[in-house]
Formats: sequence, structure tokens, C-alpha cells
Amino acid sequence: MVRVRFAPSPTGLPHVGNIRTALFCWLFARHHNGSFILRVEDTDRERYRPEALDAIMSGLRWLGLDWDEGPQVGGDYAPYFQSQRLEIYHKYARKLVESGSAYYCNCSPERLDKIRNQRLQNGLPPMYDRNCRDKKIESDPTDTDTVIRFKMPLFGKTCFTDELRGEICFENSTFDDIVLIKSDGYPTYHFAVVVDDYLMKISHIMRAEEWIPSAGKHILIYDALGWEAPKFVHLPMILGPDRSKLSKRHGATAITEFEQQGILPEAMFNFLSLLGWSPKDDTEIMNKEELISRFDIDGINTAASVFDFDKLRWMNGEYIRRMTPKQLTARLKPYYEKWGWCTADNPCDDEYLDKVSQAMQERLKVFTDMKELGYYFFTEPTEYDPKGVKKNFKPEVADWLNELANRFDSLSEWDKPNLEQQTRDFANEMDVGAGKVIHPIRLAVSGLRMGPGLFELLEIVGKEKVIARLKRAANWIRENIN
Ligand code: GLU
Repeated sequence: MVRVRFAPSPTGLPHVGNIRTALFCWLFARHHNGSFILRVEDTDRERYRPEALDAIMSGLRWLGLDWDEGPQVGGDYAPYFQSQRLEIYHKYARKLVESGSAYYCNCSPERLDKIRNQRLQNGLPPMYDRNCRDKKIESDPTDTDTVIRFKMPLFGKTCFTDELRGEICFENSTFDDIVLIKSDGYPTYHFAVVVDDYLMKISHIMRAEEWIPSAGKHILIYDALGWEAPKFVHLPMILGPDRSKLSKRHGATAITEFEQQGILPEAMFNFLSLLGWSPKDDTEIMNKEELISRFDIDGINTAASVFDFDKLRWMNGEYIRRMTPKQLTARLKPYYEKWGWCTADNPCDDEYLDKVSQAMQERLKVFTDMKELGYYFFTEPTEYDPKGVKKNFKPEVADWLNELANRFDSLSEWDKPNLEQQTRDFANEMDVGAGKVIHPIRLAVSGLRMGPGLFELLEIVGKEKVIARLKRAANWIRENIN
């Protein structure tokens, strides 16, 4: 039975790398009809941030990464919280002390600092000097003057098999006598993770590559408790486009930021699934069901993968194009409201919005693109693209636009074919190519040089507004171009 867990520490906004880990765990669980468990590793009380936990849970929900167990709260599962399991950790820590694998230590923080600094000055790794190791101090895990430390073997090697990378070994002498229970009574990550992965019957530990060195320590704790360790799957690193570790300086890294930018959860899901995994062919666009059926460990890479922001935008565009105009409108509407384009005083007509969606669907990569690329469906252009002005707003164009405004005004029917006919006839009369007329009209009505088909655009924007904008542009040319 496959049982995997996502075990975030709620210390900051969830990084896409962490969410990628969650997504791989989830896909692996779903592929094997196993269980996906959410366990909040909140034992570092100083770094604990409640808002981080909210962001993690809403990020998981946004992507549809539902977890399968936990205490029931109002019909939903709450995550497991390590902070609610202290007695369990104390029990196993006591066991380790009793069996001689761990010991109480009452070295003061000042003493520990001193040893650390001395070692650093001598160019040595800052390890504990094992002063308490053989002192047989009597205490209790809840005692605030003592910690419990693990007795690391002094010699030999510890190895484990990573499912992707094969055997990985560490010299035991490089391991510190790590703390298992801190003086505040909370377990450290290393201890709690082992106890919980075992008690929660985790079959595969899937987590980022940076945890490989920890796995060696964990194996020794498993051994000391007489437990068999789960399988380990360390996922490849995620790099920024410059191949350094993905960080804020590359752009958005918190999952919440992508949501705000107008990335679709379906596209983010698909994009993240390909960060370190591949279906072994060139398929890129895969929905959740397809990913569940195709995802498995053998497709996970060990080489780092690059977070390509452009590819994410491209993929998002692909998902936008797969929507019906109505679906797209439903997603765009909240943005229109946010930007003040559809308000309570000035509500938008759904039929109009669907036409806008249809016209713009091919051109959007993210929803927020609409703000620049499609604003003219809602507000009058206040300026004209300077390159377009240079190319298309010649002095004689002022008269053309006025004349076109008159001709458009007398059209029997305001629709694409009539608008097109009228425009082409006019170009013929002027003895110029149609483009010479089409480009200035577009610039006058939208302020932009590019967009959906001009006649479709004009039909949607509507007679009154188009005519007003043509006249306004004609005046603008008279005032500004000579
Ligand atoms: N709490 C650890 C983290 O923040 C979990 C590491 C693990 O999966 O073992 O990433």
C-alpha cells in the first residue's frame, strides 16, 4: 500500500519547490490508489508563522491536492500537527535513552556557543563535543534544563538506497550527536520525522534532494528504534533560468503569487508535474487524469530541472484556449471587477463579455494580459502606441478617419462583413492597400498595433464608440502630427 506524506514546515510562504514535492507525492499516491497525508511540521516554535500554514493549505486546495486522512473537522480532514504529538516523541526518546542510544544533556547554551566558535576558528565543522555522552544524566523530556541527544556511532558508514539514485553512504564520524528533544520539550525535525513516518506507515518518503544528508542520520535513528525505514525518493532540485537555485530574484516563487498573476491552477498543475518528471515522450499538455495514470517513479529525473517562466505562460495560454468563451468569461470577470471595468454602477453584459473572451482567447497567456491587451473593450484609449503613430498616423489619415466615421455611421447593419466591405471600398477609392487603412483604424479604436481581427473588434466595441474614437483620433492627428 502506497502511503506518502507532504510535510511542510510553516515558516514562510510555500515555495513552488515545496508544492512540486506535494504534487509528486499526490500523483504517486493517486496513481497507486494509495494515501496522501498532510503533516505540518511545526516544532520550530520560533519560526512558526500561522499565515504560512494558511498559505500552504490554500495553495494545496487551489491545485486540488486533497489529503486523505487526519482529524475530522466539520466534514473535512485537518492535517496532522506535530505540535499535538509531543507525548509520542517523548515516549520514543525515553526508549532511546533507556536502550543507551540517546542521552540527556545539560550543557548551557553559552558552553555550546563557545565550543562551536572554537571549532569554527580551528576550521572544523561546528559539532557538539559530546561532553554529556557518558555522564548518565537523569532527567525527563519535559525538563527545560536538558535536551536529549542521539548517540551517533563514532566509526563506520551508514548507507541507504535512494529509489532514483541507488546507494548513498555517509561516514558516521561526520554526524553530530544531534538533539532529538529540545529544551522546550519539542522534538527536532530529525526525530519527529522518523517517529511520524514510521507510525504513519509511510511507504515512500518523497522530498527534495537537499534532504539527502539528513537521510543518513534518520537511518541511524530507525535502526536504534529497531524499525525498518520507508523507501526514499529524493526529488531533483529546481533551478532558475540562470541555473542557480530558484529564488525570489528569478521572479515569483510563492505559489500564491502565481494565483494572483492569473495563472490557472490546471496549468500550474501540469507545469509543476513536468519539473523533474517526464512521461517519456514529448507530451506536454496533460490533464490531471492523464497525469495520474502516467505518473510513476521511473519517470522522475535526477538532473535538476529549470523553472521556465515563459513556458509556464505558454502552457497557461494553452489552457486558456481550451476553455469555452463562457468559461473564460467566468475566470476573467473577477479581474474586470478588480480593475473597475465592471462595477455595480456600470455592470457588464455577459453576452458582451463572452464576445470579448472569444476575440481575445487566442492572445492571452495569463488573465492579467487582458489589462494591456484588451482594455479598449472597456475603456477608451488614452494614448496611442508610439510606433504605430509613427507608422500609421500620417497627416492625411485624419481626413480618412473622419470620412470612415461618416461611412460607418450610415451602415445599414453593424457587423463584420459590412465593416470590412466599407473599409476595403474606401481603400480602393484612395488607391491604397487595405492595410494602409486597417492599421490606422485599429490604432484609433484600440490604441494598439495588434489584436484580434479588426472587423470583429469593431463589431464588438460597437458603433457609437467606434465612431467617437475615429473622430477623436482624427483630431489628435491634426493636433499632433504635421
Ligand atoms: N519539514 C520538512 C520541510 O520543511 C520536511 C522534509 C521531509 O520531507 O522530510 O521540508
